Amino acid sequence: MDLEQTAIERLKMASDMSLRLYKQPLVITYSGGKDSDVLLHLAGKSGIPYEVLHSLTTADAPETVWHVRDTFRRMELAGVKCTIDTHRTPDGGNVIMWNLIPRKLMPPTRWMRYCCSELKEGGAKGRWIATGVRWAESAKRKSRGALEVLHSNKSKRLTLMNDNDASRMLMENCQLKGKRVVNPIIDWADTDIWEYADAEGISMNPMYACGWKRVGCIGCPLASKKERRKEFSQYPKYRDSYIRAFARMLAERTKRGLDGSWKTGEDVFHAWMEDGVLPGQMVLEGMEDI
Ligand code: SF4
Repeated sequence: MDLEQTAIERLKMASDMSLRLYKQPLVITYSGGKDSDVLLHLAGKSGIPYEVLHSLTTADAPETVWHVRDTFRRMELAGVKCTIDTHRTPDGGNVIMWNLIPRKLMPPTRWMRYCCSELKEGGAKGRWIATGVRWAESAKRKSRGALEVLHSNKSKRLTLMNDNDASRMLMENCQLKGKRVVNPIIDWADTDIWEYADAEGISMNPMYACGWKRVGCIGCPLASKKERRKEFSQYPKYRDSYIRAFARMLAERTKRGLDGSWKTGEDVFHAWMEDGVLPGQMVLEGMEDI
């Protein structure tokens, strides 16, 4: 069976189980990146009923925000329900990257991705979701399966690698309280994504045509140092927003009597970017690479 057909079979199986177990259609999670555009196209081709969900990170590039809006307008005109998921603070405000950092008292890091869990992963509670997760994206994702039950307690997560009948029964009888996930394109390579998008005429985020390899949040700590520097040189307003959020974070730390060597938001920013600048020093504009 070819990749497209396998992905469609996975979508159909998850849709069938979602309708039977939850009495609601499958939710296609959509980030505005290339994998989610391919996933969305496959969902349309499969003929299943589905909804689309975008989690607002508030740190995406403007091009990504526009691309998501365009896609949603197209989807809604075709009768597909599209939702933009925002998150609420305990006092009823919106959780955004810029108030999350002061609240967490530390910058997001590769090891402490609180922003992902707060801004991206909380949506579609009690629903069956489809994601564009692929093994080719990172070594960590190699442990992910085509069908999964996610749980906040990692020891209770369940990964099903096969789409066979035994797996299907297991999913239907599973008593674990977790989020059911299907990853239809888990075994697609980068070249498969691009060749398929080209062959099917899928409209992609324009950032790829401008040479960007990834289109996640600006300054994401999971990106390489080089990529993050490039992002901040192209989107300096986001750098300023991070610096202001770090300054508010320091004020909050001081209020709570927490020590630290950082004195300003810029100190935190330089440490966060791992650029070797000591607290109190500054890097002149345009000389970041020296
Ligand atoms: S910055 Fe990175 S880790 Fe944080 S929400 Fe965005 S993608 Fe996730």
